[in-house]
Amino acid sequence: MNAVDLLRSPNTVLANAVDDALDVLRPRLLETGAERIEFTVGTQLNGRPHIGTHLVQSLSFLVAERARDEFGIETVVDFVALDNAPAETITRDGRKYQLSYHHQRGAHGIRALVAEHYSPLLKAMTRRTGVEFRVGTYTGQQAGPEFRAEFLRTLEHLDEIRFWLAPARGIAHIRLPCPVCGWAEKHADHTRLLELDGSGALFEARCHAHGRYETDVTPLGGGYLDLATLCRNVVKERSCRPEDSTLHVMVKGGDWAFGCQLVDGAHAAIGTSAAPVPLRIFTPQILGSDGGKLSKSLLNATADAGDPSRGSTAEWLLNPAVWPGTQADYVEALTGVGELMLSDPRHFYRSYTTTALETLMTSRRPARNQPQAHGRPRSIQIYKQYFDLIADGSKTVEVRVAYDSMKRVKAGDLLNFTCRGEECLTRVKRIGRYRTFKEMFGTEDVKAVNPNATAAEQLRAVQAIFPPHKEALGVLTFEIERVDADE
Ligand SMILES: [Zn+2]
Repeated sequence: MNAVDLLRSPNTVLANAVDDALDVLRPRLLETGAERIEFTVGTQLNGRPHIGTHLVQSLSFLVAERARDEFGIETVVDFVALDNAPAETITRDGRKYQLSYHHQRGAHGIRALVAEHYSPLLKAMTRRTGVEFRVGTYTGQQAGPEFRAEFLRTLEHLDEIRFWLAPARGIAHIRLPCPVCGWAEKHADHTRLLELDGSGALFEARCHAHGRYETDVTPLGGGYLDLATLCRNVVKERSCRPEDSTLHVMVKGGDWAFGCQLVDGAHAAIGTSAAPVPLRIFTPQILGSDGGKLSKSLLNATADAGDPSRGSTAEWLLNPAVWPGTQADYVEALTGVGELMLSDPRHFYRSYTTTALETLMTSRRPARNQPQAHGRPRSIQIYKQYFDLIADGSKTVEVRVAYDSMKRVKAGDLLNFTCRGEECLTRVKRIGRYRTFKEMFGTEDVKAVNPNATAAEQLRAVQAIFPPHKEALGVLTFEIERVDADE
């Protein structure tokens, strides 16, 4: 028995309602007919990331990979560095002021931070899953006309939403940094909305060094707009536009499940937005020994207080740079745990202590060498014209790009092709591996791939779907035979 075999996860409300963790995406996919999913993962800049941050980021790629393979549509990861996080704070006359990472480091400094602390894992996950990613910043987001226009719309409803955004005092923390030095009032104590009309908003605020100042916000310009977490999420979620039939999904740490009630309250108070607000996927929370969320500041505080539980947390959980192995091993272990979590909704919609995570990550046998979860057939969504050909037995060879998830398919595995509620269960008889589509069509029986098109027509069609950098991953063919569902 190893740790992976010993993992037991009780049922929960959400896990009980689904077969797969990603089934939560299906209602919206059916409703919108989206052709692409963008998974957004935001990370608060705060020095070196710990295991909790790395887990959310790697899970974003694994979720995107699984969604691509399950639903048969393009998926991408959108990584947002939240560079409005406070880098420094000071107190003057009883008021707190803060300087964001953006204002402290500048755009060049933020790029350097991302390159040092985040890019290596993101690139490794792309190599692993074939899912591409894009890097953005909060600073870029707040400068966008859609974000700013949506913010101005929320101001029109400030009275209705202010207690949703700040249930205790009703003062939403909208920070407009000083145009001279970039410092802003942390709690917006002296920040006032002076004017609001069709063209924009005018605020007054106070700087600890430069006194009172005014700053405006318009859709196309004006001052830097630093919104506190809840307000930022309300504006960001509402400013996702449904253009190019993309479904937006926010990937968030599990502690957000408690906070989203307030975001939803604000959405409801503002009223219907231009598009349905994005879906959210909450990833497992990583908890310290007493059940509190893993955080550096908490652990440092307990260490200072001489708390003995500090000693039980492996140093690499807080600082992955001291992981006892190569960087490649670390990514392998992280991926193995992520895939284990995704293999059963009960393993996904739950939390893990640092002790459990340490055991899973250092156990000998990673999840990817495990047999298929539950011995269940793998679902593959496919276009109607190909589905019909498989169902009537005339298409017996299916072609796929060699993503890692597809490379795990073995002869004898069951593949369940699905299309608009119809299913066709097949068994893999043989697997072909090729460097290019051209090589594949030179070897496979073209009529078994598609009896209705020539090799040249099929090559053009498949190359139109998969650009050269995807083809470069390699090409797989599955020779399949139909299986009666009751077999
Ligand atoms: Zn100033």
